[in-house]
Amino acid sequence: MAVRVGVLGATGAVGQRLIQLLDPHPDFAVAALTASDASAGKTYREAAKWRVDTPIPEDVAGMTVGATEPDSVPDDVDLLFSSLPSSVGAAVEPDFCEAGYVVSSNSSNARMAADVPLVIPEVNADHLDLLEVQRDERGWDGALVKNPNCSTITFVPTLAALAEFGLERVHVATLQAVSGAGYDGVTSMEIIDNAVPHIGSEEEKLETESRKLLGGFDGAELDRHDVEVAASCNRIPTIDGHLENVFVETDEDLSPAAAAEAMREYPSLDLPSSPDPLIHVFDEPDRPQPRLDRTLGDGMAIAAGGLRESTFGLQYNCLAHNTIRGAAGASVLNGELLLENGYL
Ligand code: NAP
Repeated sequence: MAVRVGVLGATGAVGQRLIQLLDPHPDFAVAALTASDASAGKTYREAAKWRVDTPIPEDVAGMTVGATEPDSVPDDVDLLFSSLPSSVGAAVEPDFCEAGYVVSSNSSNARMAADVPLVIPEVNADHLDLLEVQRDERGWDGALVKNPNCSTITFVPTLAALAEFGLERVHVATLQAVSGAGYDGVTSMEIIDNAVPHIGSEEEKLETESRKLLGGFDGAELDRHDVEVAASCNRIPTIDGHLENVFVETDEDLSPAAAAEAMREYPSLDLPSSPDPLIHVFDEPDRPQPRLDRTLGDGMAIAAGGLRESTFGLQYNCLAHNTIRGAAGASVLNGELLLENGYL
């Protein structure tokens, strides 16, 4: 029988993607929706200005949106996907965990907390067991797991594939799509015919989250990988798909051919949303491109290309769909990992 799930922040850009991905999901059935007080009490069809590229699922469209508080969610819902603004997530996610719900969250609050697992299942599934420590320390029946920022998720799987060569230093420059800021995040006057070389707090997220994801877990605490990461983040006028230029210095010699082989062979997982292959490596020097390649693996694959030697070691480009692999799909995949590991 399907696990009953809810979506916190169900009317937003990521919330709508969650509804799109959950509607046909083999293991999860949507049973609760929440949003702001302005949406509470309306049907989902009325509250969500549906802008995803498939029709609104009819069974969800007729559901009533609740306020974002534990009392709005039926007790038999086991798992909540959270796509709330981070300030709201910080205020309410702990209440849901305390009330016994397991929360798989996109929001940036608490991603770097010492007892909160930050997980990309194909990279660091073992960090999920930090939930035992979290439950002990916080006295929760529920639990809180996070997925990383959409730009972090794009390049970290490629670094994980190269880790065997000894990661020393990484520089990453991003070209990020406008959907990463939510529907109301970037105005057309700001972004058409333009590029904006600043995205608030984004660079710090790439630099810190990547080291947490690549770090080890000894069963009690996490340590951060000692790779040095420098990021520069840019907003460009694409709709979906973050493209990144990456330079990696490694301990051991790393040729472009060896890097391509390591990426191609990096394993995916036997979970419904994990694509196979996880990393699609292009030989063509002008790929990946957002419009052409963001839907690889149903939007869950990482695309890489342009591998070559440079003054700063290996250079390549990578790409992921920011609202699927970078947000909604990442939370769903973490939900699948929670289910497989007996946390639901
Ligand atoms: P969004 O389009 O602005 O949606 C925000 C959602 O939160 C809506 O459902 C909204 O409900 C609800 N909400 C707003 N204020 C609330 C409040 N005070 N109480 C309860 N609910 C409230 O934002 P988004 O782009 O989907 O992003 C959601 C989260 O995911 C953010 O933390 C963001 O940083 C993160 N994220 C986004 C992306 C991306 O690619 N967009 C990628 C990774 C992570 P109403 O409709 O009722 O206002």
